[in-house]
Amino acid sequence: MSAEAAVKYVTETPIEEVERVAAWINSEEYKEKNFARQALVINPAHACQPLGAQLVAHAFEGTLPFVHGSQGCASYYRSTLNRHFREPAPAVSDSMTEDGAVFGGQSNLHEGLENAYALYKPKMIAVFTSCMPEVIGDDLTAFIKNAKKKAVVPEELPIPYANTPSFNGSHIHGYDAMLLSILQLLTEGKQVEGRCTGKLNLIAGCDFNTGNYREYTRILKEFGIPATFLADISEVFDSPLDGTYKVYPGGTKLDDAADSINGKVTLTLGPYATAKSFAWIKDNYSGKHVSLPIPMGIAKTDALIMRLSELFNKPVPASLKAERGRAVDAMTDSHQYLHGKKFAVYGDPDYLLGYVSFLLEMGAVPHHILCSKGSKKLEKELQALLDASLYGKGCKIYMNKDLWHLRSLVMTDPVEAIIGDTHGKFAARDAKIPLFRFGFPIFDRVNKHRYPLVGYMGIINMVTEIANKFIDIKDETCEDRFFEMMR
Ligand code: SF4
Repeated sequence: MSAEAAVKYVTETPIEEVERVAAWINSEEYKEKNFARQALVINPAHACQPLGAQLVAHAFEGTLPFVHGSQGCASYYRSTLNRHFREPAPAVSDSMTEDGAVFGGQSNLHEGLENAYALYKPKMIAVFTSCMPEVIGDDLTAFIKNAKKKAVVPEELPIPYANTPSFNGSHIHGYDAMLLSILQLLTEGKQVEGRCTGKLNLIAGCDFNTGNYREYTRILKEFGIPATFLADISEVFDSPLDGTYKVYPGGTKLDDAADSINGKVTLTLGPYATAKSFAWIKDNYSGKHVSLPIPMGIAKTDALIMRLSELFNKPVPASLKAERGRAVDAMTDSHQYLHGKKFAVYGDPDYLLGYVSFLLEMGAVPHHILCSKGSKKLEKELQALLDASLYGKGCKIYMNKDLWHLRSLVMTDPVEAIIGDTHGKFAARDAKIPLFRFGFPIFDRVNKHRYPLVGYMGIINMVTEIANKFIDIKDETCEDRFFEMMR
């Protein structure tokens, strides 16, 4: 590069100073300062509420996600979903700008609804908010009522809406708020005295793994249990490439969702991501209401299978029994590669409980457990898992900490691997350890969302990925004399 083209830094930092600081941020002294930090979040392990709301909006037939708020925010949710699934995530925004922030966003919303309905012919429009209308206090209830009064959209068009302020909670809370609103609207007046659909209503929770949804569907088919999958993204974000573009490629049928209020059993497998929706379901839905943890690992999968068997009075199918046997075999075959290995894990509450259960079952040690939007309840539940296992001793839980905290942890108190999402790759690289990308989002690997992590198949997928990576590392780093055919 010529001297003219060379970058001239505003402040020249001597190389020794750069090296000193690079070493210092790996120290105990820096870790203490990092953990004393209060007013700043660096690389949080969660996204904002509307992103979860958009996920659940996509999960219903013919539904157009509609962001009341800033265009830039809408682009963020769309691009995040698009990069994770490598599929389109079509959603619209009413693009509030400065005038909307001053005078309120009603005219933006009305114009947006009118255009969106005319252009995209949705069966339902699911409206949720970005930060801006929440800060100025836009009244969605009144705005949407007025839109119908003014005939901006047909009276009969369902428009569920949710307030999803991003300065509270995370994407799981946005998911919950939007799901609740959709169910409340679709089931209104649909409860029929004495009617029972005989079906299971299944809710997966805020899960971005399409393989998991397919796995649940397959398990229910094996059992022969009729089901309505409430908020099903499996076709929406994993549709076949056949040369035609569909704006609405799948999702739960609106009629099925409406009739779900007359279900035989409603089961949530994401209790933290469906807290409000499930509380409302318990008060309003017919039939039984069951909440189970996400079935990751043997114990939690067994709990799901046994409960399904009991609720529908059906024996566990031989095919699932055989599958369990294969999962146990896979765990046993991989055990020596995971046993005693220390991990740092982070993620959403439901997933985090799954990771910890699975690792403890493998005799691995979830040494650092971190959640950037946790709660006392979650902490207690995680601690109970640790206390119940020999491998949980000395493990520590960090609630409401971010991935810069995680970096300090893995640099000062090393582990052998991290389980999380793509955002952890920087800490993993600095610590020179592998990152197992099981959470959301995953931007830097392909097809991960197609591999289930739940059920017996999920166990096989997880142990295979983890054990083989440790074997790869051994092969890549061992001396020639230890480079063996057998591992
Ligand atoms: S945090 Fe608020 S401003 Fe940022 S993307 Fe989310 S909604 Fe938009």
